Amino acid sequence: MKMIDDFNFKGKKAIVRVDFNVPLDKQTLEVTDDTRIRGALPTIRKITGDGGSVILMSHLGRPAGRMEKYSLKPVIPVLEKYLGKKVLFANDCLGEEAEKLAAGLKPGDILLLENVRFYPEEEGKPILPETATEEEKKAAKAELKLKQKELAKKLASYAEVYVNDAFGTAHRAHGTTAVIADYFPEDRKMFGYLINSELAAMDRVLNNAQKPFTAIMGGAKVSDKILLIENLLNRVDNLIIGGGMTYTFIKAKGGKIGNSLCEEDKLDLALKIIEKAAEKGVKLYLPVDSLNGDKFDNSANTSLTPVDAVEDGWMGMDIGQKTIEIFSEVIKNSKTILWNGPMGVFEMEKFSGGTTAIAKAIADATAKGAYSLIGGGDSVAAINKNKLADKVSYVSTGGGAMLEYMEGKKLPGIVAIRGE
Ligand code: AMP
Repeated sequence: MKMIDDFNFKGKKAIVRVDFNVPLDKQTLEVTDDTRIRGALPTIRKITGDGGSVILMSHLGRPAGRMEKYSLKPVIPVLEKYLGKKVLFANDCLGEEAEKLAAGLKPGDILLLENVRFYPEEEGKPILPETATEEEKKAAKAELKLKQKELAKKLASYAEVYVNDAFGTAHRAHGTTAVIADYFPEDRKMFGYLINSELAAMDRVLNNAQKPFTAIMGGAKVSDKILLIENLLNRVDNLIIGGGMTYTFIKAKGGKIGNSLCEEDKLDLALKIIEKAAEKGVKLYLPVDSLNGDKFDNSANTSLTPVDAVEDGWMGMDIGQKTIEIFSEVIKNSKTILWNGPMGVFEMEKFSGGTTAIAKAIADATAKGAYSLIGGGDSVAAINKNKLADKVSYVSTGGGAMLEYMEGKKLPGIVAIRGE
């Protein structure tokens, strides 16, 4: 594996996997949030700045074969605006048009290929009728895996260097995220700047955290976060739990949770986490009070109760004021902070106070010198909503990929380049 900073792209063609899976306006098909496009700019600029040319490939959405509403065309004007130059576009990835355009690239040129998921072999998931038998499914999958190799080989033939900068899909073993790397020698494959910074942020927190290290876990379910919590118990000093998963813990401890979210089959697991935290000397903070609603709606009546005394007919939807104070104090005294998942139903104004307060406490701790990493779609949304993105140390762009990496899993897109 090469480091992008150590590589001179002069006179070279680089094929770059980016994550342009951006939201589009349903009517106008314009890009409504260009964060992901901006994330790829440093890598593109480095290559063209060196005097190389760039072939960009990405997916957008989940098309079943070629579907125009998932075309990457709307990305072109956004790229052109930021790069200040024309961006070439190929209507396909493997056909004559892409091949010709790639062959004709001159130093400084940028070519965007059409949505690579228009080819089912990219993902390796066959599109089959529901009536297909298990055997037919197996055979179709095996055939598609072969085609996936052909796709990767063909795309690799367009360029001399492969750069992966699509952190959001690094947990997928797809043609352009992993398989393609097999067709480049060790010193001709590397990560782009975005993946490098994501890895640096996560490794700093996982392996190099200054203490006290506090992890704040929220969101709906314990089951979604259990692997992450288990991995973190070996690393953190404080584990703060909030959000919907709170109530599974409270019920497991014998509390009354009314109609709050609860995973009945995870009660034992919640107790095990409490036990394990104690064994490892991790301070586990659960909410002490709960802001409840009498229906799952912003117009609900509210009540504030101890977290273990939620009445029937009421649902815990945010952390209460006492909890906010306790959690904020822990956060403000931390040197490393990881936050994943909201403290309540933050989409509803009435129940967004806990999440906002925690976001602010993290920003305050960061101002005092702590390192803070925010990950997961909803916590990132909460940080952005409160305009705090530049007041925390790092906001991850990859929801699922970040979660898997932090759980300790090997991501195919990462392994394909740097090995185990
Ligand atoms: P996750 O994707 O697991 O991070 O969960 C995020 C979702 O959890 C958000 O949509 C929140 O509305 C939801 N959530 C947070 N707290 C609660 C709660 N107390 N009850 C129900 N849902 C919640």
